[in-house]
Order: sequence, then C-alpha cells, then structure tokens
Amino acid sequence: MTQKLGRHCTICSHDQHRQIDADILRHATGYLKIASRYGLILASVQRHAANHLARELREHREAEMLLSAETLIGELNELHLFAPCTRPCGGGWR
Ligand SMILES: [Zn+2]
Repeated sequence: MTQKLGRHCTICSHDQHRQIDADILRHATGYLKIASRYGLILASVQRHAANHLARELREHREAEMLLSAETLIGELNELHLFAPCTRPCGGGWR
C-alpha cells in the first residue's frame, strides 16, 4: 500500500487490514459498521477507502456493473423466449 509522506494509516497498518479491505469492497456503503466492527473510527475507514482503495473500489464497481449488465441481458433474452407465450392467442391484445 502506498502511504503519502509517511502518513500513518490506521487501516493499512492494522492486523486485519486484508479483511477490512474485503469488507469495504463488499459493503461500499457500510463504512460505519466496518469501523465499529474493527474498533476504528469512521474517518479512518473513509480516508483509507478514498486514498488507498480508490482503484480497487472502482474496479470492483465496474466488475459488478458488468456482471449486472450481463445478468440483465440474460434475463431479457429469457423474457424474449417466453414473450410469445404470454400474449393472447391470435397475436392481438384485445
Ligand atoms: Zn490505508
């Protein structure tokens, strides 16, 4: 991990640093919970996420977006397969 000008980061030097990183990546919005779970202060988690995990967070979000886009396309394809069966007989909507 990069530390600017030798500034101390509570999380980078934490024993459970990797676990905390994994938690931050998994629950990008639950920083307060993560902070209390590891006995940290919220600002430390936020600073670490912003300064030391920015790239990982972005990549993680992009991967999730790609995944959800793929899921969505898969669902649309499935809907498309079933679409003719859900229409009233004769192709009309009366
Ligand atoms: Zn850090």
